[in-house]
Amino acid sequence: MVSRIIPVETFDLVVFGGTGDLARRKILPALFKRYCSGQMPEGSQVIGAARSELTEEQYRASVAEALREFAGDAAQDVAAVSGFCDHLHYVAVDARGESGWGDLAALLNEGSVRAFYFSVGPGVYSDLAKGLKRHGLTEANTRIVVEKPFGHDLETAQKLNQELAQYFDESQIYRIDHYLGKETVQNLMAVRFGNMLFEPLWNAQYIDHIQITVAESVGVAGRGEYYERSGAMRDMVQNHLMQLLCLIAMEPPSQFEPDAVRDEKLKVIRALDTVAPHHIVRGQYTAADGADSYREDVDNPRSKTESFIALKCQVNNWRWAGTPFYLRTGKRLSERDSEITVMFKDTPHSIFGDEAGRHRNELNIQLQPNEGITLKVTIKEPGPGGMRLVDVPLDMSFAEALGPKGQGAADAYERLIMDVIRGNQTLFMRDDEVEAAWAWTDPIIRGWEARGDVPKPYDAFSFGPDDAALMMRRDGRNWRGLGK
Ligand code: NAP
Repeated sequence: MVSRIIPVETFDLVVFGGTGDLARRKILPALFKRYCSGQMPEGSQVIGAARSELTEEQYRASVAEALREFAGDAAQDVAAVSGFCDHLHYVAVDARGESGWGDLAALLNEGSVRAFYFSVGPGVYSDLAKGLKRHGLTEANTRIVVEKPFGHDLETAQKLNQELAQYFDESQIYRIDHYLGKETVQNLMAVRFGNMLFEPLWNAQYIDHIQITVAESVGVAGRGEYYERSGAMRDMVQNHLMQLLCLIAMEPPSQFEPDAVRDEKLKVIRALDTVAPHHIVRGQYTAADGADSYREDVDNPRSKTESFIALKCQVNNWRWAGTPFYLRTGKRLSERDSEITVMFKDTPHSIFGDEAGRHRNELNIQLQPNEGITLKVTIKEPGPGGMRLVDVPLDMSFAEALGPKGQGAADAYERLIMDVIRGNQTLFMRDDEVEAAWAWTDPIIRGWEARGDVPKPYDAFSFGPDDAALMMRRDGRNWRGLGK
């Protein structure tokens, strides 16, 4: 097997918010790992930028500490950490003020790919974009990477898009959704569009329903202020679950190329129906097993924000008419588990009689905690004594088949940051996609706000409110995942 990793050009990546939580936990460890894989060409620089006054030595020491905490085994290699730190610089610059811009400009190299990662609070994005332009730090092929949340609703997302568009062309803006950087999410596209086997069956005629679960066992403590304004719908459904739904439901793009893929995703979002109130279950965790309640975590005894949501929606087009999509996400659930299940229909007729039971093919795409794809097929149970059927998994996870290559899959941030450097926007959200997703989300939120809905309580570390299971059972179905 010939490896064809596309090389990257020499780059300057400026991480605004380079001392923050996301930079320490994800961005810098991802860059370090790419450095270890030989993907940081000589002359490339990573420049941390934030308001705090730090010397370069202090910054390098704090990044080395972050790598030891968050970059796994690779960071035990002292020489590797020190080699990476040689590429590191720090500038104290206030994105909203006047100080520090000249120092930053002096560090940037002519001719290197230039990217600015906006790892600062969303309230700073516009000022930062303006500051970069006003101080002459941008060139025609400069890229900016914008973190979530991208807006709070359609109006704020449109405003932010317009503000960024004053300073950058859409081709320069990389709205990051790390779910799209996961190996398995991309493998889902390879499975769908690289095989003859699945695509002919990938429609309402053969698929009974699709489920997407993104469950977390952590609560919201530490992020309470943000989460209280956001809730599960804005924090997870509008972006991550929506993007996963798009990749499952979209038509085959003519090429695996940014606008071709994003055009198809956009069509899916625009084809989503408005969700009826009885197809939505909102929940909020209560204290259990030593964990505080949501209301304690956000310090608001009357909070009506949902820490859990399950909903049933429909993609109103020819391919999917009659095949529901069930989405579920929440905090403080029994386990951390992200997966997509494509449940195929029953065979039209069972030649084996009733005693053979009901057997269905099921394609499971596991995203967290481990990544892998499993197809459940029905076979004969071995041995004499009649025709008994049993479901067995065909494991398509990469680890065994691909050996070390399959195990060492790059983390989502590693892949996405390198895509920014390569100038490949395929796995980033376009402005119209983000706005269409808010246009679908807003009326749903306005609906429950107008009704004064109070989320259903559920025990911390449970499967969520009973009503979520009931919603499924009413349709004669069950959730997959979360211990099932
Ligand atoms: P954080 O820990 O609060 O860090 C914010 C960073 O921004 C700090 O380095 C801060 O340093 C810097 N900063 C603040 N105001 C600035 C200004 N005016 N000019 C220059 N630098 C400034 O936040 P975070 O958790 O890393 O999150 C950063 C962004 O990523 C947010 O938009 C967040 O929504 C998003 N995000 C975070 C996560 C996560 O897991 N943490 C996940 C997804 C998305 P100084 O105070 O020294 O300036």
